Amino acid sequence: MGVQDCIFCKIVSGQIPATKIYEDEVVVAFLDIGPISDGHTLVMPRQHVEKVHSCPPELLGQIWTRLGKIAGAVALAVGADGYNVLCNNGRAAGQVVDHLHFHIVPRKTGDGVFAQWPSYKYRPGQVEIIADKIRKHL
Ligand code: 5GP
Ligand code: ZN
Repeated sequence: MGVQDCIFCKIVSGQIPATKIYEDEVVVAFLDIGPISDGHTLVMPRQHVEKVHSCPPELLGQIWTRLGKIAGAVALAVGADGYNVLCNNGRAAGQVVDHLHFHIVPRKTGDGVFAQWPSYKYRPGQVEIIADKIRKHL
């Protein structure tokens, strides 16, 4: 998907309407059209970048500088007990829109959202092998 076809670029430019709650020279924050809880918000850079690892570090920093303030406001507004900040990267991870964005999902105690967290244990020795592979790419 190119920038021309990008639905979130169209929200940035105003070609497609969205319920924006905050915008400045770096980010636009707006309510998700298919919320998983009231106040579910998306925060995206104005600039079209696809993923966390392809985002210039300075831009990533600028986005995160704003995330706390926006998340705090969202949580207060809907009386949340907590919230998740999520970023899906790639189809396998559930990314549907290829314009980097962070979900702020307000949570209530016991709400059952993300009730399944399929945690498991590494086999003996496996954790160091994986860690080593990752270190080699850093
Ligand atoms: P992803 O799965 O890519 O991390 O999340 C995309 C999110 O964007 C979904 O939660 C979806 O509901 C939301 N979304 C997709 N299209 C639109 C739209 O046109 N307007 C708004 N406000 N949200 C959208
Ligand atoms: Zn875009």
